[in-house]
Amino acid sequence: MTWKTLDDMDLNGKRVLTRVDINVPMENGRVTDATRIDRIVPTVKDIQAKGGLPILLAHYGRPKGQVVPEMSLSHVLPALVEALGQKVAFADGDYAAASGAMTAGDVLLVENLRFAPGEEKNDPGFAGRLASLGDIYCNDAFSAAHRAHASTEALARLLPACAGRLMQAELAALESALGDPTRPVAAVVGGAKVSTKLDLLGNLVSKVDHLIIGGGMANTFLAAQGVNVGKSLAEHDMTGTAQQIMAKADTAGCAIHLPVDIVVTRDFAAHAANQTLHVESCPDDAIILDAGPATVARISDVFTTSKTLIWNGPLGAFELEPFNAATNAAAVQAAELTAAGALVSVAGGGDTVAALNAAGAADRFTYISTAGGAFLEWMEGKTLPGVAALGGETKGETDG
Ligand code: ADP
Ligand code: MG
Repeated sequence: MTWKTLDDMDLNGKRVLTRVDINVPMENGRVTDATRIDRIVPTVKDIQAKGGLPILLAHYGRPKGQVVPEMSLSHVLPALVEALGQKVAFADGDYAAASGAMTAGDVLLVENLRFAPGEEKNDPGFAGRLASLGDIYCNDAFSAAHRAHASTEALARLLPACAGRLMQAELAALESALGDPTRPVAAVVGGAKVSTKLDLLGNLVSKVDHLIIGGGMANTFLAAQGVNVGKSLAEHDMTGTAQQIMAKADTAGCAIHLPVDIVVTRDFAAHAANQTLHVESCPDDAIILDAGPATVARISDVFTTSKTLIWNGPLGAFELEPFNAATNAAAVQAAELTAAGALVSVAGGGDTVAALNAAGAADRFTYISTAGGAFLEWMEGKTLPGVAALGGETKGETDG
């Protein structure tokens, strides 16, 4: 890893342009979940401890280059003040004057960057105006790093740049999972559809030792092997693609694990009458909503013999009890192995995080990424412009 951290920078007396993600959910002008704000506190405090003056740069919503008062960061300001436990100045007009007026101990928040058309265009002129406000650039917004915007990309090339603590933690976790992992590495990929995770599957089969496929997408793979999946969610037009992925895995020495038993029902509903059957016994009028206990036992064997686990996507329709059983059991197993020091476990994805939380397993995972799109693009082996601009090579690049 070649990017710098706050530890590598001399921040004393310097204005530190700090890109953060405080795009928090709000209702009636009030923040309803301050998690994202809480997570940037260590970076802000560290900059201050090193004598620096944090100038926070952030976006809110999608105002598309126009001033939209409801999307003003002034609404987020009270929650930021509370999280930091100090006064925060807000710049919505003359940014240069606001920056110039800062003295030791001050924090400044700049108005929603996306009010300016230059932000999302990665406009060098806009980046130059931002750069003139500070001396050092610190990016703590991994979740925005998959976008080449002025505050995530162009600006990083204009000033001495480093990663903030949250960015550093995220990159270290992803690096340990996919960049330079301890082997064997297992990946769980589940969720609804193969078509939304093609790039992910394609990259993982060349990187991991075991690929456990679950959820609706397992049905597509089963169908590609000629197994009847009844009326299950399955993309029958993706059969060829599934076969190619299995062939690629074979060449790369990656073992693919598909369900060996299934939980079927007639209704896509919680508590619907259901049966656990051998994978090849799905009735024509049934839908598969979960993997069965024999599959969970096999997954457990893979977890036990692995040193690293990457997880994206639930193993079944986890929102509907009891079709969360396989996801819950596997999640708890991964959490226990991690707590015992036997496994490095990294998970991400909106529904995945919800499922691991519901299973009571999330807090024992080594790292849970809340970065959404940026997490997936990293796992797909793509270059993240915001990481590349920090001088770090992007790990997990696709082969061939
Ligand atoms: P993430 O948000 O973590 O990337 P996805 O959005 O890809 O995950 O997948 C989650 C969705 O997949 C959930 O809504 C879940 O109900 C659905 N799903 C999982 N298994 C099945 C299945 N067998 N049939 C239908 N839907 C499923
Ligand atoms: Mg989802």
